[in-house]
Amino acid sequence: MTCHVCLTPLTSPITTDVETNHRIHEHCAIERFIGGRWAPIAIPYFTAWYALYPEAKANAHSLSTTHRRVASIRAPSQAAAFHLMQGEVWSPNGEARDLISSLGLSHTSMSVGDILVDRHGYGHLVASGFDFDFIGKVTP
Ligand SMILES: [Zn+2]
Repeated sequence: MTCHVCLTPLTSPITTDVETNHRIHEHCAIERFIGGRWAPIAIPYFTAWYALYPEAKANAHSLSTTHRRVASIRAPSQAAAFHLMQGEVWSPNGEARDLISSLGLSHTSMSVGDILVDRHGYGHLVASGFDFDFIGKVTP
């Protein structure tokens, strides 16, 4: 079992996101004042899914058929996550080359056709630059 935020194995201390019921590390949670008390929720994050080929049309009901999960990124917004997934930011010296090729992908920078999935499981398709098209609930 892996943590929904960081995708690494769930080792204690573990907590539960009160909005999604996902089990997460305590260090992957922040507290939000909900219903009169402080309660844990996941740090805002997205998972980044890259298209296997440029024309890949996302299949929201089976995202793995068209896309590969590349990363889980803690970021306050889609634009911030998009920025963090640019090659010059996360792989300035080609560090991601082996990961990218092992996934059968050919691009390091997030670009048109790639998808950010938010903490509620909704997909945001990169349309152009910083514009995203909402594609609804996605299933890996
Ligand atoms: Zn975690």
